[in-house]
Amino acid sequence: MTSDGSLLTVKDVSAAYGKVVALRGVSLSVNRGEIVAILGANGAGKTTLLNAISGVLPITAGRIEFADQRIDGRKPWTLSRAGISHVPEGREIFPSMTVEANLKIVDAFGSGPVFTVDDVLNMFPRLRERFRQAAGNLSGGEQQMLAIGRGLMARPRLILFDEPSLGLSPFFSKFVLGAIGALRAKGLSALLVEQNMRAALKIADRAYVLRVGSIVREGTAGEIADAPDIQEAYLGA
Ligand code: ATP
Repeated sequence: MTSDGSLLTVKDVSAAYGKVVALRGVSLSVNRGEIVAILGANGAGKTTLLNAISGVLPITAGRIEFADQRIDGRKPWTLSRAGISHVPEGREIFPSMTVEANLKIVDAFGSGPVFTVDDVLNMFPRLRERFRQAAGNLSGGEQQMLAIGRGLMARPRLILFDEPSLGLSPFFSKFVLGAIGALRAKGLSALLVEQNMRAALKIADRAYVLRVGSIVREGTAGEIADAPDIQEAYLGA
């Protein structure tokens, strides 16, 4: 942990795509065992923030620390070994491989809680029914469960979720977010990007609101849920 007690510390981080500045001096922290939501409208910079943390996108200013180490500038695969798992929007499963193979090829190099194939199947029983089928034939919700299962089997200490409920039916959204909420009991920390503010705040401990690349609000999930203006002012509702 870093000196202030947090597992992840993002400090004054900026990032850009060429001349398009997508993050401007963003600071946030995630403590051990905490689920932190990142809320914001389309284009606010949420995906960019996760890509900056997981090393997919280089940052242009600031610093990122994870478990006492400075990690900005490091390659994504070294960060997954260090214990950061990224479940991107779009899911990144292998569609022609079976569910079984998608789970069994994960490199379990992290130092976080152990998740076996069986743990994943117990968490998402639908995947047990689809175990020998090609992942590309699963429904969107089932693919999301598989992507989360793969993310967990890497044994992260911190897991980054990008819009896990995107495109899912209300039933699957609730199920998937419920499963993410239950990870806290395993001692895992999570950063959860969601446009579905109400659903995210039900499982998060704290939240930050991003608006055109800057953090404009932060607080406990209860404080953010109770702020009457947030939905209209920042989330485009
Ligand atoms: P969404 O929910 O739509 O994914 P977001 O909050 O995740 O939104 P980002 O995808 O991080 O937002 O985008 C932040 C800004 O960076 C936007 O202005 C977007 O147009 C821009 N941007 C994102 N990816 C690229 C890219 N590959 N090249 C250029 N600009 C980009």
